[in-house]
Amino acid sequence: MTEQPDGPTPVPDQPAGPACTTCGAPACVHWQRRLTDAEFADYLALVQGRRDELTELADQQKPPPDFGPLPTADEVTRTIYGCLDHAITLDAASLIHTKACTAPPCTCTPEPAPEPEPEPEPQQLPPGWG
Ligand SMILES: [Zn+2]
Ligand SMILES: [Zn+2]
Repeated sequence: MTEQPDGPTPVPDQPAGPACTTCGAPACVHWQRRLTDAEFADYLALVQGRRDELTELADQQKPPPDFGPLPTADEVTRTIYGCLDHAITLDAASLIHTKACTAPPCTCTPEPAPEPEPEPEPQQLPPGWG
């Protein structure tokens, strides 16, 4: 006969979602910011490190894998999370902020929102459809 532990099992204290980048409280809003020069340098080092690893793991008999050019600073953003105390307006949160932005509070002029994708032309259904 095995002894069963009785009583409720304590539930681990897990955060429900992402935490505020500033204080660690549960976040209620998030936005994108360009990487600072230092962050981007770290990011490139990470990407290059992964590529080096993959190149080493790749079959040496074959030509080395072609990963294409490294990402540029325009292609990457980092996500900043804000709690109620460290939120920015939802309008501002829908935009991409510059690398110099210290939001919250936002200190930059965010990039304009990308043009919405044009609606695709309605397809003509072939006869007999619809
Ligand atoms: Zn906070
Ligand atoms: Zn900003």
